[in-house]
Amino acid sequence: MSNPSAIMLSLAGRVALVTGGGGGIGSAVASALLKAGAAAFSIDRADRPGPPGVSSIACDVSRSAEVASAVADVVGRAGRLDVVVHCAGITRDAVVAKMSDADWHEVIATNLDSAFYLLRSVAPALRQAGGGAVVLVSSINAERGKVGQANYAASKAGMNAMAMTAARELGRFGIRVNVVAPGWIDTPMTAAVPEEYRQRALDETVVGRLGQPEDVAGAVLFLCSDLGRHVTGQVLRVDGGQLIGH
Ligand code: NAD
Repeated sequence: MSNPSAIMLSLAGRVALVTGGGGGIGSAVASALLKAGAAAFSIDRADRPGPPGVSSIACDVSRSAEVASAVADVVGRAGRLDVVVHCAGITRDAVVAKMSDADWHEVIATNLDSAFYLLRSVAPALRQAGGGAVVLVSSINAERGKVGQANYAASKAGMNAMAMTAARELGRFGIRVNVVAPGWIDTPMTAAVPEEYRQRALDETVVGRLGQPEDVAGAVLFLCSDLGRHVTGQVLRVDGGQLIGH
């Protein structure tokens, strides 16, 4: 490999952990990290294994002890940890006036509490490895809000703020923390959304197409590789211009 950019994109010898690696975006991310040369682990629900070649660990990311134990399992098996990508997430949509306590708490616990449990659990291992990269997968709805998504948008805005804080705290250990904020991406999560919303998202883009999981994976790979070595504390939108086109 003589191309310097390709060498910087390589994750050979590194160990990567992806939450939600059995999902649409998570499996594309895990595959991209694997193809870049990393040993890749997915932590997800027991019935959602990661893609071929990725080691799967069953874990409910909304539970503190389960996250700590899954991270310890990865580090124990691989001997180190260099890259962490948080893709696990859910929606439970309802307008504020009709949102139940259960829908609020489940989304905050699955999307935001999990990010905290994860960051706290992985920081010592990343520090031990001499540095590393963390990417939290948020959403453009953190920045603009969305009817029916008070819980989801709040959870993602919390992730953005947490990432900037963690970037400040961990930078001196060579650990970079960034956010990728997708717009509409065709995955099992959005497959359940009525067609009119899909069309509206398409109309909002400035590129005339909707995102695919691989579009998010490309941005994540850049941020996790040495090509992104001077990028930290950032929110990178991967939305085909949906937010600026709105
Ligand atoms: P998806 O439903 O295909 O994948 C989500 C994954 O998270 C699933 O594999 C699921 O099993 C896992 N998960 C959910 N709850 C979990 C829990 N408690 N413990 C462990 N794993 C759990 O959805 P996706 O579209 O691939 O979404 C991935 C991430 O991208 C999510 O954080 C989502 O909020 C974000 N996102 C998606 C879109 C989109 O348009 N698809 C847009 C913006 C942001």
